[in-house]
Amino acid sequence: MHQPHASLTVPQQAHLAGQGVTRRDFARIAAFLASGTWLTLGSEPALAQLSQLKGMAPDAVRINANENPLGPCAEALDAVHKALANAGRYQFDLTDAFKQAMAAHDGLPVESVQAYAGSSAPLHQAVLAFCSPSRPFVTADPGYEAGEVAAKALNAKVIRVPLKADFSHDVKAMAAADPNAGLIYLCNPNNPTGTLTPHADIVWLADHLPKGCVLLLDEAYIHVSGAPMASALVKAGKDVVILRTFSKIYGMAGLRAGAALGRPDLLTKIALWSAGPLPSLGMAAATASLQVADLVAKRRQLITEIREDTLHFLRAHGVEYVPSVSNCFMVKTPRPGPDVIAALRTHNVYIGRVWPSWPNHVRVSVGTAADMAKFQVALLQVLQGNAGPG
Ligand code: PLP
Repeated sequence: MHQPHASLTVPQQAHLAGQGVTRRDFARIAAFLASGTWLTLGSEPALAQLSQLKGMAPDAVRINANENPLGPCAEALDAVHKALANAGRYQFDLTDAFKQAMAAHDGLPVESVQAYAGSSAPLHQAVLAFCSPSRPFVTADPGYEAGEVAAKALNAKVIRVPLKADFSHDVKAMAAADPNAGLIYLCNPNNPTGTLTPHADIVWLADHLPKGCVLLLDEAYIHVSGAPMASALVKAGKDVVILRTFSKIYGMAGLRAGAALGRPDLLTKIALWSAGPLPSLGMAAATASLQVADLVAKRRQLITEIREDTLHFLRAHGVEYVPSVSNCFMVKTPRPGPDVIAALRTHNVYIGRVWPSWPNHVRVSVGTAADMAKFQVALLQVLQGNAGPG
């Protein structure tokens, strides 16, 4: 008889065995979990090449990680200060209050909301819950890569489906990618392109999933776009889990708060892979942010104005880009993207990364108006072949 594996709980082992994962793979998966790989390798800061930021000047323009330079709103900071005084306690009530606030925000029962410290953890854990060596992970190309890290740790096949010519997800091709798919990951608006997939396509996909497959709908940037949220799919009991984060429009990337919305049975499978209390300060700040009625609309307007101003500049200078509704956009580069990234750094401007399938595009996040003005000056210099002093 097999002994339980020391580093995986008995329910985790039972789940993996049920997914067709062999015992031989348990040690590798346990090592992956213990290493925190999903946080170090498979999260935006890491993917955004933070290693390159070593030695960065304090006045550097940081438009590389899709953060919100506005930071938390005043109400969130107030809530943090109050929660801080009691931070010696776990303050579970703050997580309960956050779940209630999210449920009210999306018109869902509180049982359909699971709280997290951001959305990276439930993203990776959904892969652990629904993929396996016989249940592939289906994603877009180019798309946000974090789920692939967990899929690879599981030895699950990764199937990348190119975006359509209009940069929306090819939902028909994704549904048809593999009849045994465990998880289809759709990010709306997409990271890195900042482009939308029509709501009707998402509804179609939710109705045409392969048997036993779950749609993981990542709405990290949905507030920036103003497009409809898909909470009604959860309410209708579909095989859909929605991820939300407070790292983007709410400006809380360092504070950490997020949620998974889904049917309780799906959330329970994901929760098998997480443990421990959540950061009380993040929970308090998120709850307070949800209560500020005009916060999202005002921030969306500001980000949109700054983004459109920058895109107008690119047009005026004949630089091609992908039209975006998000807080990032892809710029086409006349030479390999990594060269342009490196050249911009000599001007003290740090932009995002390159996707292997699009080697001549770079991702740029929308920073403050001052950030983008510096980016514009530096980009023209770089395109003319001029290095900066750095
Ligand atoms: N999903 C997408 C599409 C992202 O771009 C990011 C971060 O940039 C995340 C999820 C995870 O962010 P966080 O863990 O900060 O919520």
